[in-house]
Amino acid sequence: MPHLTDFRFSAQSLQDYVECPRRFLLRYIQKLDWPAEQSNPYLAFEQYRYKGELFHICVDQYFHNIDPVLIEQQIHNDDLRTWWQHFLEFIQEQNFLHTVSEILFQASLGDHLLIAKFDLLAVTADHNVIIFDWKTIAGDRKPTHHILVEKMQTLIYPYILCRAGLSVNGEQLAHPTNVTLQYWFPQYPHEPEPFKYSSVQMQQDQTQLRGLMEEIEIKTMGDFLMTEDEKRCRFCVYRSYCGRGDVAGNVLNEDQETALNLDLDNLDLNFENIEEIVY
Ligand code: SF4
Repeated sequence: MPHLTDFRFSAQSLQDYVECPRRFLLRYIQKLDWPAEQSNPYLAFEQYRYKGELFHICVDQYFHNIDPVLIEQQIHNDDLRTWWQHFLEFIQEQNFLHTVSEILFQASLGDHLLIAKFDLLAVTADHNVIIFDWKTIAGDRKPTHHILVEKMQTLIYPYILCRAGLSVNGEQLAHPTNVTLQYWFPQYPHEPEPFKYSSVQMQQDQTQLRGLMEEIEIKTMGDFLMTEDEKRCRFCVYRSYCGRGDVAGNVLNEDQETALNLDLDNLDLNFENIEEIVY
């Protein structure tokens, strides 16, 4: 890989790499903007994405102590209002000592940097740490546990937290055994997907991440091959560039595994505004 000054790996960039090395090359090395619909029907997909963004904003406002009544007054969409009410019911059942939303973490691994933005980091009364990720879904299929366990996000988020460390009132809390990553779905409020972390898992994750980064680092441009799984191209903006079709896949009808590779919640991280640790 050509040397990229200050390149920071993220769950999204590594997910792109494992799904299609060519996509990683085009998006992160060549930074190629290529206009194409990600999904059909385009308007429905954009509406899901927009509602997902608004949901994240509402929740972030909640954790900045804005009155929930005022937040709800800004909501003019029935789906979003339902998601918001699900969130309020969910959060009122929780008992957190500390919370911080939309927080960026960075950790080094060898010569490389890893970055992640958590939707919410919460410390419970018994000093466990939960990373919450709010997942809004396009369509009516909640991702299964076995799909989520394969996501780079599931591996990277708890790993970064444990590497970066987290201390509250002088007490170091981010030990692997204290950490859980929990996906929470506003459309499925009673079906969260928690992933409890462990020291063994952390070791495995470190080995896998290091291996991926080293693999990427030694590749020449021509080594970033196109995926052999052409289903992945159905939602990729580069499909016409790669000669893999002009028509976008339908995220509402596609099989779950393929459609869920389109993560509505993975907004681009703003790499310019990262603080090492903020807590
Ligand atoms: S269109 Fe297919 S081959 Fe091309 S970058 Fe996207 S996923 Fe990879």
